[in-house]
Amino acid sequence: MSVLRALTDAISDRSVEVIDLTAPLSDTTPVIMLPEPFANTAGFALTEVSRYDERGPAWYWNDIVTGEHTGTHFDAPVHWLTGKDGEDVAQVPVTRLIAPAAVLDFSAQAAADPDFLLEVDHVRAWEAEHGPLPDGGWLLYRTGWDARSGDQAAFLNADAAGPHTPGLSISCAAWLAAEAPIIGLGVETVGTDAGAAHSFDPPFPGHAALLGAGKYGLTQLQNLARLPATGAVLIAGPLPITGGSGSPCRVLALTERGR
Ligand code: MN
Repeated sequence: MSVLRALTDAISDRSVEVIDLTAPLSDTTPVIMLPEPFANTAGFALTEVSRYDERGPAWYWNDIVTGEHTGTHFDAPVHWLTGKDGEDVAQVPVTRLIAPAAVLDFSAQAAADPDFLLEVDHVRAWEAEHGPLPDGGWLLYRTGWDARSGDQAAFLNADAAGPHTPGLSISCAAWLAAEAPIIGLGVETVGTDAGAAHSFDPPFPGHAALLGAGKYGLTQLQNLARLPATGAVLIAGPLPITGGSGSPCRVLALTERGR
């Protein structure tokens, strides 16, 4: 049997499960909030064009307003200064949009400390148990933050000092960019860096290192708890926005039942 026929049969008989890692897009979808003097992006909104009425008697449709980095979305290298000569979102090779994924669960640590930072030693310890990170694949960083995604305040978790959400240490970001075989980092939080990463030196090390290395980001993922530590295949579908720095993205995972 062909590989593709075997795959569609397996999806049909549920021996391969399709899991949606995408947050619903609505006007309540959380959006990152940068402090003054920085500009902020648009939240998601619909503007009705017609709905079975005099504007269009038999059809319903909307215009959409969205930022490239609104909701579950894809960060292309050109999103960051360090990656400004890299790929825009339309230039990402389609073969990299279907790739294996490792899921590293630090939800207990993030529940105990919302400023929890992933370190190289954490990844090394995971590799000692599960094997190496997937070559050409994704590191999906589970923190439990998807449980907060229905509430902008809980999701951003900010106080007077700024947001408190889990992320990467500076050394871990550098290591993932330069040493790890992954093509990108996927997170459940509003961005691939910690909430406090604006105050790191250098700031936003995850964005700077990974995008500067030509790697990608995926944010605001859901349902990572339903994935195995290894063996899932990720399908990411950013829109091919010409010159775009990123895109809202449908992200699906395939998993094999019993594995
Ligand atoms: Mn982004």
